[in-house]
Amino acid sequence: MDKKDIKSMTLSELERDITEMGQPKFRAMQIFRQLFSKLKTSFFDMSDISKSLATELDLRYRITAPKIVSKLVSKIDGTEKYLLLLDDGNIIETVLMRYEHGNSVCVSTQVGCKMGCAFCASTKNGFVRGLEPGEILSQIETVTREHILEKDFRVSNIVLMGIGEPLDNYDNVIRFLNLVNDKNGLCIGYRHISLSTCGLVPQIKRLATEELPITLSISLHAPNDEIRDTIMPINHKYKMAELLDACREYQKICQRRISFEYALISGVNDKKEHAEELARRLRGIMCHVNLIPVNSIREKNFKKSSKNDIILFTNVLNNSKINATVRRKLGSDINAACGQLRNDHMKKD
Ligand code: SAH
Repeated sequence: MDKKDIKSMTLSELERDITEMGQPKFRAMQIFRQLFSKLKTSFFDMSDISKSLATELDLRYRITAPKIVSKLVSKIDGTEKYLLLLDDGNIIETVLMRYEHGNSVCVSTQVGCKMGCAFCASTKNGFVRGLEPGEILSQIETVTREHILEKDFRVSNIVLMGIGEPLDNYDNVIRFLNLVNDKNGLCIGYRHISLSTCGLVPQIKRLATEELPITLSISLHAPNDEIRDTIMPINHKYKMAELLDACREYQKICQRRISFEYALISGVNDKKEHAEELARRLRGIMCHVNLIPVNSIREKNFKKSSKNDIILFTNVLNNSKINATVRRKLGSDINAACGQLRNDHMKKD
């Protein structure tokens, strides 16, 4: 019998299992606490679980706990980048960003990615598989465990912006969101979670029906189809008009400000007329535009926009009443664009 991934289970599912095993229901809560408060990775280390019950649990369940292959820490701002080894030998990336307002973890949702964005390192080695809910959750736990001796360390924010397309792993990501929000689990508020997508229109509409007060972030990166077609293959399937309509529909239901990601690539999408066109297209959507000077990746020769072009672009948007800021870059001394560390590691192998 395949062992069940216990971290992908809700408390009520575990309670049902535990009572079926002939145990009192409260044991499920004890196990949950050991997993999510004490961050235990073995049933035999759980102080309030007897050895015989631990043996029984160990036969039924596995506790996902990725191993740290490497960890880079920025000397400038404390950003930490982790390469994590999963039980099946696959590798993913997780990043901890330290802000004054709290600690934020950027999680991967898939091993590799099939979306093919031209500027993104995550997609270069293709797609392997979606992550289980417990595997997404355990990234946050692994980072927290590394800081177990630091008084009051807590992860308060999550961004689903690591390797993979979250909406292409829909059911597992929704289950992860429910689990991470559980007051008996890691208890991270939906308002402190951002989910980023390259624009899978049907899934955006479906996400709206879940009515979770998370922040939806759209990787737009272009002001029109002509440019978007050349850098994001998903745009052949769902055109910008359709994507922006889905955003309007999402907003109508969820009443939340939408965030648009826009990587400024020199000579591609960073001119004044691009900013003007973008402002026109976003009019009427309550939003924030995150401008990101593109990270050049080795596999592709995209260059960052000049400082002047970045300032001009930001001003055009702000003067058109579109709220825009340039994203502060963290961890520049351990610079590795999303997915780059994993690619380097795979090359070495
Ligand atoms: N698949 C999702 C989430 C993962 S990528 C998405 O597409 O949104 C997280 C963000 O980083 C996205 O906005 C993505 O477009 C951006 N990104 C990827 N590579 C980048 C690079 N080289 N420079 C700047 N941003 C990049």
